[in-house]
Amino acid sequence: MSSYFSQAAACAGVAGALYVTSPAIWAGLRKRSIENNTAYFDMQKLGTSREASTKIPGTAVVCGGSIAGLITARVCHDHFERVLIIEPEAWLTTEEGQLTEAYAQASKRARIMQYDAYHGFHAFVYSALANLFPNFDEEAANSDVKVDRTNMDFRVSGVAPPPAPKYYGGNYPKRLWGSRRGLETLLRRLALDKKAYPNIEQVVGSVVSLVPDKHHSGTLAGVVYRDETGTTREIPAALIIDATGAAQAGQKWLSELGYAQDLHIQSYNPRAVYACIIMRVPPSFWDSLSHMPDNARGPGAGPVMFLMPNIEKENRAAVVVRNEHGFIHMIAAAWGSPDMPTTLDEYIAFVHSLHVLEPLPDWLFDFLDKLHEVEDTFTLQKIRQSPSSLLPYEKCQSLPDNFIALGDANCRINPIYGQGFAKVVTGASCLNTLLWQTRNDLVIPRNFGRKFFNLQAPKIQPFWTSPKLFDYPRPDTVPVPGEYDTQFFKFMRWYFGSIRKLARKDEQANLVIYRNGMMLDSAPIDLFHPLLVTKVFWRWLTGVA
Ligand SMILES: Cc1cc2nc3c(=O)[nH]c(=O)nc-3n(C[C@H](O)[C@H](O)[C@H](O)COP(=O)(O)OP(=O)(O)OC[C@H]3O[C@@H](n4cnc5c(N)ncnc54)[C@H](O)[C@@H]3O)c2cc1C
Repeated sequence: MSSYFSQAAACAGVAGALYVTSPAIWAGLRKRSIENNTAYFDMQKLGTSREASTKIPGTAVVCGGSIAGLITARVCHDHFERVLIIEPEAWLTTEEGQLTEAYAQASKRARIMQYDAYHGFHAFVYSALANLFPNFDEEAANSDVKVDRTNMDFRVSGVAPPPAPKYYGGNYPKRLWGSRRGLETLLRRLALDKKAYPNIEQVVGSVVSLVPDKHHSGTLAGVVYRDETGTTREIPAALIIDATGAAQAGQKWLSELGYAQDLHIQSYNPRAVYACIIMRVPPSFWDSLSHMPDNARGPGAGPVMFLMPNIEKENRAAVVVRNEHGFIHMIAAAWGSPDMPTTLDEYIAFVHSLHVLEPLPDWLFDFLDKLHEVEDTFTLQKIRQSPSSLLPYEKCQSLPDNFIALGDANCRINPIYGQGFAKVVTGASCLNTLLWQTRNDLVIPRNFGRKFFNLQAPKIQPFWTSPKLFDYPRPDTVPVPGEYDTQFFKFMRWYFGSIRKLARKDEQANLVIYRNGMMLDSAPIDLFHPLLVTKVFWRWLTGVA
């Protein structure tokens, strides 16, 4: 046994003894782990409004009207007298930006290259949206975005997942099935609903700078934006939220005013590439596919199959889902520069050629083959993902009291892990928690911005760190300077892989993996529950793993 493994086994032994002597200690640690490193408890508090008389006078200015902007605007509506979204893309303020049939939009989302790329959403995201918008399910149905308890067929190296954990008694967490375009458009329709949220307004413009408050040092007085006509306008703000996504514009705005001079952006490039395919099938398409499993077939939105690689053996992945209004979204994803499919036949060959430990079911290929019938609907978009980046504002010496950044404006990761929306919900939930904690203040208190970043950072850290486990071993990945695929990362990959194998027979391991995938009541330390650690090492020692 290597010294690392003996140390790990010794730690597991001590933790095991602790657990046996006092399960209450473990329960306490677990609660703290959820509290500190996830936004699960924060998310549960979303959607409760302050009394009108205790709302903060003034305007919460949200820079960017995409996922982070819309969700944050909705959160701010519960706490501020006025919320203003400033978004450059003019068509988003028209009816077209809120259509129930989002696919009919003629305008293009100029700054969001992934508008038509496959997106998956954790149950955590659905729960947050259902808390924020009481009519979410109803409006989702109007958009044909599906809300249900379907489990997905998520295969690593082609190995079929175990049945969903018995813990739920069949009452699995609800989740969302729909396209990015569909969900973003639905969110806009919900958040900009004047009857439900009369104080939220969206204007067309590009924020260019921030205005310091001459009377209160350390505070910002407002933002400057350029409107549609090119005219520069100034808007006073009580709180400024950077939701500019990939532009990550806040760092420049702060730097111009002398703030966050010591912001050291961390960045690495997983060199991920995507081929995003969209096709459209009529309802009758499914008639001859009755041999497919129920959760993978049918005209409503839902999963078909997720094929993730064992990163040591394969650098490619594939996802196939059904989206609203009969659209099928398929991706071929890869690290590095392998040949990517450009036609349906090449996509089928791509899926066939993936490294798998168990043969993929025939029904998958029957389904893919049948797509030839609608080949005239085939569209393809290739995306070379930009580097991942983290802006650790919490480490800066000097920050204004009333500025925050969330969503991709704060952290951008390899999208293969599908965590972008969950990251947004995490940031917006942290904001809501802090605004609740300070609900007796009718102004944004001193150091609010710093408190926000301190609260958000440890909850964003898992989003930033865990992809490295799987990105760093790829030879094409360019890591954060000074970092590399450490022995610890290698051990963690082995450990996760062992839990995944164990999950096929063991309910505890199955539940840990399932909860992790839902991002609900999942504590990071669940993976290191003493009993689970013992099972993994026992299997290893006895040669089962
Ligand atoms: C190929 C691909 C696949 C993905 N798949 C998934 C997935 O499966 N699941 C998932 O959860 N996530 C996924 N993501 C990530 C997800 O799309 C992003 O995390 C999400 O869009 C972030 O939302 P945001 O609002 O923070 O930023 P964005 O969506 O980038 O929006 C930023 C907004 O700010 C506006 N803006 C920019 N500059 C200014 C300015 N100066 N002033 C005012 N407004 C400005 C822009 O016009 C835009 O509307 C994927 C990403 C990619 C690239």
